[in-house]
Amino acid sequence: MIEDKNQQRTSLADLGEFGLIDHLTKHIEITQKSTVKGIGDDAAVLDFKSKQVVVSTDLLVEHVHFDLSYMPLKHLGYKAIMVNLSDIYAMNASATQVTVSIAVSNRFPLEAIEELYTGFEAAAKLYNVDIVGGDTTSSTTGLIISVTAIGEVNQKDVVYRNGAKPNDLLVVSGDLGAAYMGFQVLQREKEVFKVNPNNQPDLDPYTYIVERQLKPEARKDIVKLLKDLKVKPTSMIDISDGLSSEIIHLCKQSNVGAELYENKIPLDPQVISTCEEFNVDSTTIALNGGEDYELLMTISQDDFPKIKGNPNLTVIGYITEKERGMHLVTRGETLVPIIAKGWNALKDQ
Ligand code: ADP
Ligand code: MG
Repeated sequence: MIEDKNQQRTSLADLGEFGLIDHLTKHIEITQKSTVKGIGDDAAVLDFKSKQVVVSTDLLVEHVHFDLSYMPLKHLGYKAIMVNLSDIYAMNASATQVTVSIAVSNRFPLEAIEELYTGFEAAAKLYNVDIVGGDTTSSTTGLIISVTAIGEVNQKDVVYRNGAKPNDLLVVSGDLGAAYMGFQVLQREKEVFKVNPNNQPDLDPYTYIVERQLKPEARKDIVKLLKDLKVKPTSMIDISDGLSSEIIHLCKQSNVGAELYENKIPLDPQVISTCEEFNVDSTTIALNGGEDYELLMTISQDDFPKIKGNPNLTVIGYITEKERGMHLVTRGETLVPIIAKGWNALKDQ
């Protein structure tokens, strides 16, 4: 995004570490029953009674995971929380707390860090999780953000990656490939902007895919939906790297194979039209694009009537014996082995 040079700039050096922490965290409120003590002591204190506790952490590094030239800091804060909550939901758990740690260089004014926190707080509020701590330090290079998410789950409800059985259905929430195509559009606009800074990009035809890249939503609603439908998946994983690599994770950990139908992969019309425009194959993008933060799960055939026709869930294939391997069944009905490329590999193309 184009920087506003007239913005107010309060120097971080003037505030000092403790001044900064205090400034950023003084109005943060606690809403979860399990939070006994939040920010302000040497450690947060949590009490989960008889529940099991799930913990997941992610590190986001400037120039590796995000590019501030088109990623507004508010969105980045929001996304950093989503990436972590998504892992908690993938365990079929509910997220309750997060900690947020940042390493910032003095090139950022206080106002920029406030923007980041606006994103953290918006996400925490909307998904009903408490921010209970973090760490603040300086960085001599880029911005680094580390979020840890904590959640709770009844022991009987937790879903691992390793429970898929032959004949289970392979099911995905939402649609795939949009975040990656949004990234492609933003990259293109950045290049155009470099050549002609007066050119204002028209992103209207790409609203959905750009939003999927800049402001992804973790699928808290799917965990609730499954509960309401009384469906407990046999295995589950969130789609951060791309459908292919997540299928491979589920199959390897469950000791099974899978068949995935190309014509069943859910794609938004905007993904299809943008893939045509960029002259790339939409199946390849859905398989390897990544950052969709949808949930991929396997469910028993017995549960099929409960999810049938639900617009949030699509059956895209089924689980086989391990010996059959992992294959994509193309529209032309040929079998292509599923291999993991992941979005990192794709980025260099
Ligand atoms: P310590 O020296 O023990 O690491 P800090 O002074 O870093 O303590 O932290 C004091 C309190 O502020 C702790 O509760 C810590 O979790 C919290 N905190 C520090 N940095 C952040 C941050 N960026 N966001 C939220 N809470 C923070
Ligand atoms: Mg500290």
